[in-house]
Amino acid sequence: MQTDISNISKHLQKNNIKFVRVLFCDNANIIRSKAFHVDVLTEHFDKGVSITVAQQAFPVMYDVVVPETGIAPVGEAWIVPDWSTLNVLPYAPTHARVIGNIFKDGDPWSLCPRGFLKNAIAKAQDFGLQVKAAFENEFYLLKSNSDGIVPTDDTVFASTLGMDINCAVINDITDALAAQSIQVERYHPESGPGQHEISIRYSDALQTADRQIAFRETVRGVALKHGLTASFMPKVFENKAGNGCHLHLSLWKGEENIISDPDGIDGISKTARSFMAGILEHLPALMTLTTPSVNSYRRISPHSWSGAFRCWGFDNREAAIRVPTSFASPSSSNFSPSHFELKTVDGAANPYLALGSVISAGLDGIKRGLKLGKQVSVDPGHLSETEREKLGIDSLPISLGNANVNLINNNMLKNALGPDLFQALIAVRQAEWEGMKNMRIEEEVKILLSRY
Ligand code: GLU
Ligand code: MG
Repeated sequence: MQTDISNISKHLQKNNIKFVRVLFCDNANIIRSKAFHVDVLTEHFDKGVSITVAQQAFPVMYDVVVPETGIAPVGEAWIVPDWSTLNVLPYAPTHARVIGNIFKDGDPWSLCPRGFLKNAIAKAQDFGLQVKAAFENEFYLLKSNSDGIVPTDDTVFASTLGMDINCAVINDITDALAAQSIQVERYHPESGPGQHEISIRYSDALQTADRQIAFRETVRGVALKHGLTASFMPKVFENKAGNGCHLHLSLWKGEENIISDPDGIDGISKTARSFMAGILEHLPALMTLTTPSVNSYRRISPHSWSGAFRCWGFDNREAAIRVPTSFASPSSSNFSPSHFELKTVDGAANPYLALGSVISAGLDGIKRGLKLGKQVSVDPGHLSETEREKLGIDSLPISLGNANVNLINNNMLKNALGPDLFQALIAVRQAEWEGMKNMRIEEEVKILLSRY
């Protein structure tokens, strides 16, 4: 669709839109929006809506400025619509959604997460690379009954009964995604009761992050219409499967996917190996951005397929990076891996910050020519500490507090984020750590279930 004002106006009128929601996702990964009425489109078309700059200084628990962010509740920023992201909301007809870039004093704001991702994409471009990606979301569907909020089913992985019980809501989610040109590829009930996974088509990095916002909004909105609560919270139930949001990545030069190289070690190109090595190198600090909640660290644990170890492997669901073999085995002549998956990502992650920082880490690996270690083909959780050490397999941070310290000491990520975004982000994360570190899971659920 043409994104000039007259076409947008016609499109909104044709769809009987009353309100246009202009969205952004903050440092705490809360999706927020102010909406304007269509009758005042002209006034808002170019400059969008204003928010206080303090919006980037709130922790996930409450709307109170964290002073260490360096942000005061003085000053205005503008969420300027990127009209190419406009969608009519199938689950809230009469409302439309457009994602914005944040501006301050007429310029792109240094604290805009979407701007940060755009910079990382531009840096990849300097290496002649395009990054394509997909977030693979798991989420819980919950209903209210006399016991409180409980899962919609009590089924296990890939249960067809789970499919039957949730068929109507899953179909409505799928239709709503399709109406926004988001292609659903696969669906299955996951291991937890009421837990489901819907995977969507990969896309270029910016669109992938935008689609992650649309995906979360759509799942929650459609679930609401069915009287259900949907939650992407990393760990809702202490002893049940966590919600991962694995990040699938591939590298391209123009039309060519450059992950595979029949002459490369393990059939993987040198560039891709260094990119993966960069991610593993920075992972202990990256986790402040990819698994950013105090609650996230309940999910990252051995034997739970959440990638608790800093290593990589073919089809290894316990390694932080898994390379899917897609039918042919790594030893066969027609082996051609197309992408890899980072498992230490969850739905508490702001997709722009997570993807932008992962790309930055990968590019650092290429720049420094980092070498990828040996692939791991066992469950590292079954090895002794000494055996793991021999194979160069580290454990990952066991708490947000831990990850924060790693980020504070990571100059590459600090530089990539820039001083303003770094200061605000780490202050928000520290406030979340201090505020929630002693909470029981039930208290975390009370705060976080509907945040993500
Ligand atoms: N639920 C697991 C996680 O927390 C992932 C299971 C899977 O491999 O899909 O990451
Ligand atoms: Mg899964």
